[in-house]
Amino acid sequence: MSLDRSHCLSLDTQDPLAPLRDQFEIPDDVLYLDGNSLGARPKAASERARQVIEQEWGQGLIRSWNQAGWIDLPRQVGGQIAALIGAKPEEVVVTDSTSVNLFKVAAAALKQQLATDPSRRVILSEPGNFPTDLYMLQGLSQFMTGGPILETQPADSLLERIGTDVAVVVLTHVHYKTGKLHDMAAITQRAHEQGALVVWDLSHSGGAVEVDLNGVNADFAIGCGYKYLNGGPGAPGYIFVAERHLAAFDQPLSGWFGHEAPFAMRDDFAPAGDIRRALTGTPSVVATQLLSVGLDTFADTTMAELRAKSVALTQLFIELVETRLPDAGFELVSPRKADERGSQVAFAHPEGYAIMQALIDRGVIGDFRAPDILRFGFAPLYVRFTDVWDSVDCLKDIMDNRTWDQPKYQVRHAVT
Ligand SMILES: *Cc1c(COP(=O)(O)O)cnc(C)c1O
Repeated sequence: MSLDRSHCLSLDTQDPLAPLRDQFEIPDDVLYLDGNSLGARPKAASERARQVIEQEWGQGLIRSWNQAGWIDLPRQVGGQIAALIGAKPEEVVVTDSTSVNLFKVAAAALKQQLATDPSRRVILSEPGNFPTDLYMLQGLSQFMTGGPILETQPADSLLERIGTDVAVVVLTHVHYKTGKLHDMAAITQRAHEQGALVVWDLSHSGGAVEVDLNGVNADFAIGCGYKYLNGGPGAPGYIFVAERHLAAFDQPLSGWFGHEAPFAMRDDFAPAGDIRRALTGTPSVVATQLLSVGLDTFADTTMAELRAKSVALTQLFIELVETRLPDAGFELVSPRKADERGSQVAFAHPEGYAIMQALIDRGVIGDFRAPDILRFGFAPLYVRFTDVWDSVDCLKDIMDNRTWDQPKYQVRHAVT
């Protein structure tokens, strides 16, 4: 088997998931390898937005909270997400941003632990975790004087570090930069053996890799709506609370949407008896409806099928970069073994920023993460095998001709 474009074309022809791409609007002159950062737009999103804005809002006005079911959206769309992450529908709710949700869930987990053992004070994460996750945990621990101590431990020694002083472990399942997967089952099991709870951030996992939260007996999880779930820029995130923890789940942002009877308008807070206790205020209705449209794009497939395609895409990309550009200075940062890797591939290169700008200029859209990482995401719903070929072809051309070596590609943008 020779690795050429016609081989990639035949992979597309044989791909049972290929028709799913038609659900998305992707410009003809773009090879989109950044669905891990912002999912592509489902075609159905515009029609849904128009209907929500013109009919539900425009005509229905405030009646739509009941008549269009706005009030049930957080749980309804949470149920759609539950199907992708091995959770029960009643364990997941859509709300707020991932950053805010992390704060709520970490604080609730911590409170649950301190109630039984005040000496168990360590929140354990890893250095190089997604910045907002560390920042929110720093905020939480600094806010509570005499409270938790945030500690970070590198991934390779993290498991052993989980001891009886650890209250909560907070980890991102698929590392945002390297794409490295944590062993969710092993870490969760070790944490439970030591009496710790675990919060999994599924931002780069949901819709990208197989996740079985209840299968691994997970405690809590949060995740992002605008990456692989295709919810649109700034889509709300989600919260998972295992059924067994629900009764004790007590989060500090106890707004009226988390109340057992929001419209009783009582002075005192009493949490809802179900997953709604994870809510805070009024949901962003339009954004939540668009997230629902994003999740509809998963209706005709399974995470097992998507994962198989994702592995094939990332494997092909690595192989092509390494065989077609052996001396261009790219160093694979992502795990070589597919079962240790999410749906993205990172290569380090000293001129990474300029190379990525040159690629983007040609319509090959990945992204750059400081200091030197080119990151490529392979959303299996819409990335084709020929996209992989064509993007590596473009990269080769840019390297062979030193196209990247121009002042305009050194200009730093606010978002990289
Ligand atoms: C994308 C991402 C976030 C995003 O947080 P926002 O509050 O939506 O900005 C958080 N954590 C991880 C690990 C992410 O990948």
